[in-house]
Amino acid sequence: MRLKIIETTVSSALSKSGLPDLDYALNPYIGCSHGCLYCYARDYVPNREVVDNWGYVIYVKKNLLDVLEREVKRFRKGVVGLGTITDGYQPVEALYKLSIRSIEILVKNEFKVSIQTKSSLILRDLDVLKRYRSYIDVGITITSTKNDSPMKSLEVFSSPPSARIEALKRLASEGIKTWIFFGPIIPGYNDSVSEIKEILSIAKETRSVVYFDKLRIKRFMWKDGFLSQLARKALEYDWGNLFRQIRDACNKMGVECRYAFESEESNRNRTLDLYAKSAL
Ligand code: SF4
Repeated sequence: MRLKIIETTVSSALSKSGLPDLDYALNPYIGCSHGCLYCYARDYVPNREVVDNWGYVIYVKKNLLDVLEREVKRFRKGVVGLGTITDGYQPVEALYKLSIRSIEILVKNEFKVSIQTKSSLILRDLDVLKRYRSYIDVGITITSTKNDSPMKSLEVFSSPPSARIEALKRLASEGIKTWIFFGPIIPGYNDSVSEIKEILSIAKETRSVVYFDKLRIKRFMWKDGFLSQLARKALEYDWGNLFRQIRDACNKMGVECRYAFESEESNRNRTLDLYAKSAL
């Protein structure tokens, strides 16, 4: 199937964020061509074409920068999460540059920006991120350290682990505050003690906080034979035991680790719901 890009216009750019530590959310693209099979955003995007062809239909908010320019003059300063729903550094960003131009508008107007991505495309913007590093932090989602990990079958089109790790190290070496999102943890895919320790050692080297999270079970997963198997495994899994092992390893290695608590999940769902209402 070929990627379909559709340009659209929006009446708002920043939405209120329900996520901890973020005041606003900004998502320049609707849909995500990384096409991760487990992607939670599928449960919240109201556009059937995007959801039913997840990874292959992307809406680009063409007038986003004009709208954002107006909003930053009116809105109270705060922290903006870039890519809270879909990845702002997915491949279409190479063409449209809406994420980096949004970041420039935000920091020039004294908003802070917290970016989360699975893509090494972020290194294209290293110079800008460096220049504004006091306003910026970058989280790289690292679900495995090995390019031949079984996670590859779930994250088919995103940057391979080696490229994500390299991006994290480059950003950190330039003095940019970095963090790792280690999630979703999926039983049998990326829950081994050796995998966890390798991710923590990268965190230690880059002085990154690690946010870890289990696979969250979403409605759409029950409609798919393969995903429903993952969901069933996750339901039966001993998460308490795994989280103890992660916390112990974090303590031993001197790495700051935080779990995405259930209350944060409900906040995220509220954010996704808000996004869903304003997205199209
Ligand atoms: S990169 Fe993130 S937003 Fe994109 S498909 Fe994967 S999980 Fe979803």
